[in-house]
Amino acid sequence: MRELEGKAALVTGAGRGIGKQIALALASQGAFVIINYNGSRQRAEETLKEITDAGGSGVTAGCDVSDFAACGEMIQNLIREYGKIDILVNNAGITRDNLLMRMSEEDFDQVIRVNLKGCFNTIRHLSRHFLKQRSGRIINISSVSGVMGNAGQANYCASKAGVIGLTKSVARELGSRGITVNAVAPGFIETEMTQNLPDNLKESMTQQTLLKRSGSAQEVASAVAFLASEGAGYITGQVISVDGGMAL
Ligand code: NAP
Repeated sequence: MRELEGKAALVTGAGRGIGKQIALALASQGAFVIINYNGSRQRAEETLKEITDAGGSGVTAGCDVSDFAACGEMIQNLIREYGKIDILVNNAGITRDNLLMRMSEEDFDQVIRVNLKGCFNTIRHLSRHFLKQRSGRIINISSVSGVMGNAGQANYCASKAGVIGLTKSVARELGSRGITVNAVAPGFIETEMTQNLPDNLKESMTQQTLLKRSGSAQEVASAVAFLASEGAGYITGQVISVDGGMAL
């Protein structure tokens, strides 16, 4: 039997990038995967097709994670329709990079709304269900930037550091009910989020790793799949770096 057979997983922002690879990894372990998307409906459908073509199962669910009420509606509808959710992966994220002195209030607020409040929104709505089940896995995607800070990303780093604080606090609150809450902090991963960075910046980030290379979305997904597995049952409140040693 595969590790996640009989489990249902909600992955936010799973139509592309790291979220897509997380959805594929969880599905390959037998999970029924709910592929959340905001703007990329077609790509979410393509992700679902890849899953079903490989013999897996899932569904797509559109929702802007920064919208508290919309997250509540999505989660209620999913539980009504599919009975339960066992694993929540908060992966949706955006960047609006600029130096502090040029950063607009809107760019600061929007990044916090999606990256940090988005995690709160899904956790807040799903926790009631997890508490009733007396089980659940919550995995939040933070970033090496949230651990180390990064010039030009005050909004993003604040949001990702906030995700770590949220993770540790919720782990403390929900642990006694059998719910684990962890964060994964990826380093420099090749996706659409990083593809337009200048070459010299990419080279400098690669050189900051101990492994002297960028990471893949699949390598992040492997860590998430582990945290969702039975084998990670005694791990909670942790931040697992998948960054080639960048933050050491
Ligand atoms: P990406 O390729 O730009 O994908 C971002 C994903 O987030 C998309 O699926 C997008 O969905 C979703 N999303 C954005 N706003 C959303 C919203 N309001 N509601 C729902 N979904 C939303 O980025 P990525 O590199 O895969 O990043 C995934 C996560 O890893 C992010 O949290 C990012 O901060 C984190 N991370 C990435 C790196 C890296 O080097 N790439 C490093 C550290 C951490 P739609 O297209 O459907 O809107």
